Amino acid sequence: MAKKITFDYDLIVIGSGAGGSAAATIVARSGKRVAIVEAGAFGGESPNWGDVPTKALLHAAQLYDEAKHGTRFGIRSSMMGYNYPSLNAWKDLVIKRTGAGGNRRYYENEGVTALRGIAHFLSPNEISVNRHHLSAEYFLVATGSHIEAPDIPGLSNVKYLTPRTILEVTRPPKSLFIIGGGTTGVELAQLMAIFGTKVYIAEIASRILPQEDEEVGAVMERILKEQKGVTSLTQTRTLMVTKDGVGKRVTYTRGGVEKSLHVDDVLVATGRVPTVDLGLENASVAYTPKGIEVNEHLQTTARHIFAAGDVLGHSSHTHTALLESRVAAHNLLHAKSKVTPDYTATPRLTFTFPGIASVGLSEDDCLKRDLPINKAVAPLNIIARSNTSDFRDGFVKIITDKKGVILGATVVAPHAAEIIHELTLAVKYQLTSAQVAATPHAFLSWSEAVRVASAKLAQ
Ligand SMILES: Cc1cc2nc3c(=O)[nH]c(=O)nc-3n(C[C@H](O)[C@H](O)[C@H](O)COP(=O)(O)OP(=O)(O)OC[C@H]3O[C@@H](n4cnc5c(N)ncnc54)[C@H](O)[C@@H]3O)c2cc1C
Repeated sequence: MAKKITFDYDLIVIGSGAGGSAAATIVARSGKRVAIVEAGAFGGESPNWGDVPTKALLHAAQLYDEAKHGTRFGIRSSMMGYNYPSLNAWKDLVIKRTGAGGNRRYYENEGVTALRGIAHFLSPNEISVNRHHLSAEYFLVATGSHIEAPDIPGLSNVKYLTPRTILEVTRPPKSLFIIGGGTTGVELAQLMAIFGTKVYIAEIASRILPQEDEEVGAVMERILKEQKGVTSLTQTRTLMVTKDGVGKRVTYTRGGVEKSLHVDDVLVATGRVPTVDLGLENASVAYTPKGIEVNEHLQTTARHIFAAGDVLGHSSHTHTALLESRVAAHNLLHAKSKVTPDYTATPRLTFTFPGIASVGLSEDDCLKRDLPINKAVAPLNIIARSNTSDFRDGFVKIITDKKGVILGATVVAPHAAEIIHELTLAVKYQLTSAQVAATPHAFLSWSEAVRVASAKLAQ
């Protein structure tokens, strides 16, 4: 009789961020023996350095900014000020309250063995952690992503900031050159500009926020410039960074012209790259520098090894990592009824003021796919709420197919991350613009712009 192979665990999860945590708890609750290995802080990027601390600081910044400009509403605000160490204390309190940051005990309470250390595959069913060997029947790789500094001469010789280290500064720099005009770069640009920093954003594409449709970058560039003095240097390549007294000198080229600037600090906010250096080749898991390859069930080329979250390299959102983690857990528990993650209605968010949220296909996506579409844009200034709040910049844009089914939408408005969910539902359940337009929308809500854009398409 063949000897039954025994493993130390049924499942070992590598990485305790959003991509790892959901699966670890789901599988442990089903009675399996689960271990989770974490090289850094338990909870991963989102509660420790990403979503939670940045949004805590952005909330405080936006409150300060609104109050400072309250004179037009009859609010006396000339005495407004801030204390940066207190702002940092607020951010730290939020991280603590969230409960996920650094929280190893959470896993232990869930019956998951939590191990600190760097996991490295030795073979398809075995890893090393702190020189101990551990085996499992299944693995979930959820090692996330990290910033890889661009190859810019001189950059590695200066002490530049990253989205992580900028959260630890004790006061905002007087001036800041941000390399990268994507979501993180733009959020941090607005944050620092509100606290008085002169900000430059250098973006190689022809607009900031190049992942969104053209109007988004254009309106945000104008708002950031007019309201916060932020200079967007689009179509700009950073050539060199050198020390310049106590600050830095940045040389860049724009429109064929080479220029240089003196700034206090430089922030590298270029794209993140998947963390794939864990001996995957020893486990026959195929990957590239762009991420781990998985099938529609999130199985890698070694079918008992699943992967989820930023390490897949196609998205950088906590809710996507959580979705994939749940799908991976389901599929390893229910091999005969596997499911596939549905990304069609996953919102994409930028937490600036106004906020930016989009879902489904963008206009650019439709153009690339040669899809015949209709589109309508409702500028915020045509709805009553923009008058009572004295805020008019922004819009809701909806895209439908020729039958009126909503394919995608973009919202640039206050509370965009909330407004988008109506459109998320519409994309997921293939509602038509006529159905959305016929749905009552509360008078004096920003969501009225959704009804107006839908009604334009339904005519
Ligand atoms: C500044 C910033 C703001 C963001 N804001 C938002 C937001 O508002 N909303 C949103 O949806 N998304 C946001 N994101 C993106 C979001 O944080 C990520 O998509 C999410 O954290 C991905 O989760 P993950 O589990 O895949 O990776 P991570 O959270 O990065 O977790 C991976 C973990 O694996 C560990 N690890 C790596 N290698 C090993 C190894 N060999 N052994 C053991 N452990 C290992 C790492 O230490 C890490 O803790 C933001 C990101 C940043 C950087």
